[in-house]
Amino acid sequence: MDVITALKERKETVWLNPDLAHAEPRSGMAGYRFVYVKAAQERFMRFLPYIASAFPETAAKKGVIESALIPIPAMTAWMNADDAGIRGRVFLKDDARLPIAGSVKARGGIHEVLKIAETLAMNAGMLHPMDNYAKLDSDEFRAFFGQYKVQVGSTGNLGISIGRMAARLGFQAIVHMSCDAKQWKKDLLRSEGVIVKEYAGDYGQAVASGRKESEADEKSFFIDDENSEDLFFGYATAALRVHVQLRKLKIQVDRQHPLFLYLPCGVGGAPGGITYGFKQVFGDDVHCFFAEPVEAPCFTLGMASGKMSEICVQDIGLTGQTIADGLAVGRPSGFACERMKPLMSGAFTVSDEKLPVYQQKLMELEGIRLEPSACAGFRGLADIGRAGNGAAGADGCGTDGCGADGCDAAGAKTGGNDTAAVWKEYLDARSLTDVMDQATHIVWGTGGGPVP
Ligand SMILES: *Cc1c(COP(=O)(O)O)cnc(C)c1O
Repeated sequence: MDVITALKERKETVWLNPDLAHAEPRSGMAGYRFVYVKAAQERFMRFLPYIASAFPETAAKKGVIESALIPIPAMTAWMNADDAGIRGRVFLKDDARLPIAGSVKARGGIHEVLKIAETLAMNAGMLHPMDNYAKLDSDEFRAFFGQYKVQVGSTGNLGISIGRMAARLGFQAIVHMSCDAKQWKKDLLRSEGVIVKEYAGDYGQAVASGRKESEADEKSFFIDDENSEDLFFGYATAALRVHVQLRKLKIQVDRQHPLFLYLPCGVGGAPGGITYGFKQVFGDDVHCFFAEPVEAPCFTLGMASGKMSEICVQDIGLTGQTIADGLAVGRPSGFACERMKPLMSGAFTVSDEKLPVYQQKLMELEGIRLEPSACAGFRGLADIGRAGNGAAGADGCGTDGCGADGCDAAGAKTGGNDTAAVWKEYLDARSLTDVMDQATHIVWGTGGGPVP
């Protein structure tokens, strides 16, 4: 109840998942076997020649849609100067530079569109798994896919990823947007041949209309952000790629070398899928935490209350409105909540004022440009550093800028609970405090590429 009170009061807080269970890599987890992740990965591989041909910007990397894992020592030093005391190595996963979509949505959204296209073409006898998929980049295939519609409700990155991919394949791509969607997004999509439908009402209404319109048309596919397996397992492929990236950097992940992920969360599909993939690869040695804005902590609320998608942030008096527009979601995905029950380590909230600070510092110190949503993970990194350092419970405020309401940008005690103490509880319970010098932290920079 403590956590829910903090959520209601818009205080930064940390929630630890009491149901976190032992995870055996490459086994059945949360009702799905590892083969689901492999299948998504293999689908991306089959499509490499097509992607390289249809999106020339990916040709140099042979159609691979992947982003860099970037060390961020200057940002880490800045956070430590602010008393964060981070131990171990820190990386940013730069998904804002993912080709085609410029956000974490690339893996999920594109995977689902590719699966629709592949299934249609195979069922029509036009495509076989052993073919060179470059043949899909042709008028014949565009005319074939042009008989079908792909629709999605989104005011942001999901619409960009699905709209661009579907339109390029030749589908009639329709993105249903609420009136508050930014003009540049509509312009970008329309310039790529995507049909943008605008609604006077809010996002929920745009999704409902899109779904209804799609259901009435048997040649139409509606991509459902809240319940889609194909999005989820597309997101999960990130783990296989990061596994290779870590190996190339000679970074070990095991009991003595834990891996921590800080994942910005909206409905929970992207962080959920990523968590699923990482647990399949690294089992108990990876610790996955979700980051949410204090005004829209829908996933934390759903999990902490046990009500999952049966509760929304408006039910506890929050607005759901935040500058982190990629995370401005009131109700979590029931599908993702269910999957995450045994797998996620916990979640934390961050107040809106901190996001532009992280955003600006990352730009200044590392030259990396993200959108505010994509910076939410830094809050957890700051806090766990302090906890792992044994500073919890001490009066561990930064000497600089320790204001009346608690600490400054990286401060520990702004929370409704003593957040550093909660992190410490997590580390102590797993005897991790002593190995934090060998830890690897990945702050997931989920988007910002397409923002003008
Ligand atoms: C969509 C999105 C997220 C979160 O993904 P969900 O599946 O909604 O949880 C995080 N950051 C950015 C930039 C996004 O666009």
